[in-house]
Amino acid sequence: MPSVYIKTYGCQMNERDSEAVAAQLVAKGYSLAPSEAVADVILLNTCSVRDFAEQKAVRKMENVAAETRRHRPEVVLGFMGCMAQSRGQELIDRLPDVDLVVGTQKFHHAAEYLDDILAGRRDKVVDVAEEEGSEAAIREHLLNGNGPKSVTAFVSIMQGCNQRCTFCIVPFTRGGERSRSIPDIVAECRQLVAQGVKEITLLGQIVTSYGKRGFGGMAVDGRAGSPLPAARSDANHGAHGVTRPTLQKSPFVQLLEAVHEIKGLERIRFTSPHPKGYGDDLIEAYVRLPKLVESAHLPVQSGSDRVLKLMHRGYTRTRCLGIIEKLRRAKSEIGISTDIIVGFPGETENDFADTVSLVREVEFDQAFIFKYSPRRDTPAAEMPGQVPQKTREERNQHLLQVINEVGKRKYGAFVGRRTQILVEGPSKKNPARMTGRTRCNKIVVFDGSERYRGQIMDVKIIRAGSFTLYGDLAIVNL
Ligand code: SAM
Repeated sequence: MPSVYIKTYGCQMNERDSEAVAAQLVAKGYSLAPSEAVADVILLNTCSVRDFAEQKAVRKMENVAAETRRHRPEVVLGFMGCMAQSRGQELIDRLPDVDLVVGTQKFHHAAEYLDDILAGRRDKVVDVAEEEGSEAAIREHLLNGNGPKSVTAFVSIMQGCNQRCTFCIVPFTRGGERSRSIPDIVAECRQLVAQGVKEITLLGQIVTSYGKRGFGGMAVDGRAGSPLPAARSDANHGAHGVTRPTLQKSPFVQLLEAVHEIKGLERIRFTSPHPKGYGDDLIEAYVRLPKLVESAHLPVQSGSDRVLKLMHRGYTRTRCLGIIEKLRRAKSEIGISTDIIVGFPGETENDFADTVSLVREVEFDQAFIFKYSPRRDTPAAEMPGQVPQKTREERNQHLLQVINEVGKRKYGAFVGRRTQILVEGPSKKNPARMTGRTRCNKIVVFDGSERYRGQIMDVKIIRAGSFTLYGDLAIVNL
């Protein structure tokens, strides 16, 4: 049977989609090639969030096509994912060596299309149509790849986005929000736990909008397309025994509760949420659900209310600060990360200074900085006041310096402390050492062996590096 190599660009959702396609191909008898040089099928799973990511994938395909056509013309080449969705046939017109283009609602057909192309039944396939129910088609996992079993897994709970932020291409590449049902997601999580998974990350473009627009044409109660009724919290005693009015629970919090019930599951994470989605019910869930780890991503994008309005984010700086205060009050150890865009059209020096001051005020544990990239068909691409590339670059560098400075302080504060980690496997940089993750989402590298994989253990932090902690098991065991 043929071998396949999949290269993934972009976010965790793309990583997850690639894993599911690889698992579907393996189930059909394909093998996974260790590199593109020996693969019979080469697939690039693409990202469109920034122009840079698109250019990188196109250049990669140009190189791969030139190389394979010279020495191994029978190799099948394909694009999948967001750029495949937004460009479709255009990609084959530009790169005629490409055989397959599979959109974001069609990943589960990739194996069938490859079979057809390899058997000579079809020459080229482009499929970027919408497909009802496709949000539930990303469910196969490849837990062990070529090595020992993974202890962490990603589970896709929904597809698409309805937010319409003025900078973002995702609603065009991933379509509108479609959520899987709670029983369907829980069944997948149970299966993963039965296979040894200890930590599950629930994935979606905006997970906090989960279930708000129904469940793939069918609600949990069987009514077509109706959203899950907002449930009332059964316990009106808060975590500290204080009686308070019953709280409306969003479908996402109901999903967290259902996943939390799974025996053998140790930790739950989720990404990516929207700041608007951190309602009191979700903040309370951090207190109530011990498996929900102390980690929150809050993609603030900017510290300036003027820019937030231009971005159509639907919140203010003050509201974000209020959410962060509540999260820290609920869980003092919580690790808070963010996404920030610098150089959004119209961003002045004062607006940028507001972003810098927000980062200093909040002291984020981690921040992902993006230089604004105009995307076609998005309102921001046509806005006046496009910021010159040089200024975007300077602001990016400035903010990175601030993030590093804050990170140094925050990570340094862990030195000398004892903390709990889930051991994930060998360190990528130095496979002789092991890595684990704290509940607040910090990587810890330590001297250990494979036998610790999957264990939850205490380490003493002896050193802090750049967004990495170094721990010592021996000291704890003494
Ligand atoms: N859940 C996220 C949110 O609340 O917006 C969306 C995830 S998005 C795929 C990841 C990040 O990419 C965004 O948070 C944003 O910072 C960045 N991004 C999106 N569009 C961008 C653009 N046109 N230019 C630069 N960065 C962009």
